[in-house]
Amino acid sequence: MHKLFVSPEDINGNTITVTGEDVEHLHALRMREGERIFISDGEKTVYDAALSQMRKNSAVFEIKSQRPFENEPQTDITVCIALLKGGACEDVIKQSVELGANRIIIFSSSNCIAKEREKDGKYYKTARQAAMQSGRDTVPKLLTGFSFDEMLEELKKAEISLFFHEKATEHFYDVLEKNSLPRSAAFAVGPEGGFTDTEAESAEKNGIKVVFMGKRILRAVTAPLCALSVIAALYDRQR
Ligand code: SAH
Repeated sequence: MHKLFVSPEDINGNTITVTGEDVEHLHALRMREGERIFISDGEKTVYDAALSQMRKNSAVFEIKSQRPFENEPQTDITVCIALLKGGACEDVIKQSVELGANRIIIFSSSNCIAKEREKDGKYYKTARQAAMQSGRDTVPKLLTGFSFDEMLEELKKAEISLFFHEKATEHFYDVLEKNSLPRSAAFAVGPEGGFTDTEAESAEKNGIKVVFMGKRILRAVTAPLCALSVIAALYDRQR
């Protein structure tokens, strides 16, 4: 069954009003009155709803039943990625959504080659599509335009905060393994040119664990994938 993502304000008593691009999507699907769909409020509830009225620019659904989120990891995961060249940030966004990230932060750092970021709308669309395709109950939050220091501030708020630097001496698995089920975990991966040693020192001074992930150098798109897979395997195993 299809799933749409709305905001809590779109829900009024027993009805949900869908507007914007989703309406075009519903028209394209040739959805008929009475047909059922899942609608997430993006916060904690997924509704099973039936189409009651289809207009040109909006669609009204009637709520039939509801359930709390069940496809979300218990650990709140934040992925911090540097601004990357080409469509690489979008690739990381897609993969992060599939692997359960809750928040994706895009920041710039000293060695960033890419200067321009995509329009936020494009990133959001990518995240939304990935969320639909992978059966997420919510679309992860996208925070863009962060400086390196602003990113560190967010990174250190998590119960486990990791900063990936290939010269580090502590392996990230050893840090993760010590925690059975953290409330939150966050990590940062550098740009194609890597983090500078000064940036790594700054992370360390902020109490963030500077870690490595193996003997080989992974690309900026591969490193988050590796970190997320390990986090999912350790902390997100329930059916
Ligand atoms: N400085 C490098 C590599 C950058 S790789 C160079 O220019 O050759 C891009 C990012 O991926 C790094 O900043 C780091 O965050 C992460 N990364 C890749 N391989 C890693 C490893 N073996 N250990 C820790 N982090 C790694």
